[in-house]
Amino acid sequence: MSRALVTGASRGIGAAIARALARAGHTVIINYRTQRASAEAVLADIESAGGRAVLAPFDVRDRVQVTEALDALLLDPDPIEILVNNAGIAKDNPLPSLSWEDWEQVTRTSLDGFYNVTKPLVMPMVRRKYGRIITLSSVSGVIGNRGQTNYAAAKAGLIGATKSLSKELAKRRITVNAVAPGLIDTEMTTGAPLEHILKLIPAARLGRAEEVADLVAFLASERAAYITGQVIGINGGLA
Ligand code: NDP
Repeated sequence: MSRALVTGASRGIGAAIARALARAGHTVIINYRTQRASAEAVLADIESAGGRAVLAPFDVRDRVQVTEALDALLLDPDPIEILVNNAGIAKDNPLPSLSWEDWEQVTRTSLDGFYNVTKPLVMPMVRRKYGRIITLSSVSGVIGNRGQTNYAAAKAGLIGATKSLSKELAKRRITVNAVAPGLIDTEMTTGAPLEHILKLIPAARLGRAEEVADLVAFLASERAAYITGQVIGINGGLA
């Protein structure tokens, strides 16, 4: 039975991805950092729909913590065939007001998180000659966004990492792709100035986490075998 690890799956887009991958028949490893009760609710949802999931708390920024958690998960003989690097944070401010701490936390969560979680899972995928690695970038990483130099830098960095890794792994039947959502209705966008934002989105609405999850579930499926090294936008026509 194959397993899928989704980082930051306690809420928002990650939780929707966890549910979608469970519906597709994978045992889902639900990672989270702080919100255990939310992660438990996602687990209960999946189980009540007849799926399988386990919880795996760790902070993707912390290499030692991630390594310990993944070492333990890799003892299970069922392979981790799917990795979704979803954990991410935003701490917006125009650059003159952007603190070093907010620069560091945002870039570390996305970029160190990618390295810390992806690296230990690649060789087992190479040995099995199969894998799917999907990383949440953002429209900000593609076209930039005022007040998001830290977030856009982190999300653009993930695109470079995705494209490079896809070239390293394509021959091994491992695909590596990025998904770049526009504005999606989650806690991350709560409090965003909607009246202004909606004018910029041709579809005139925010996206739903489930819509992103459907795209990720397709990229995670065997049917998406010839899609690799791509950045797929899901943004209502914003970019
Ligand atoms: P939310 O803020 O709703 O959820 C973030 C999730 O990431 C939570 O599960 C949180 O865990 C987890 N997380 C945060 N930091 C860490 C960490 N250091 N280690 C492990 N888990 C962590 O975000 P969204 O669902 O909105 O976003 C998901 C991804 O999609 C992010 O990468 C985001 O940048 C990207 N994205 C979102 C867009 C949007 O409009 N919402 C647009 C474009 C991209 P916990 O609950 O335990 O704190």
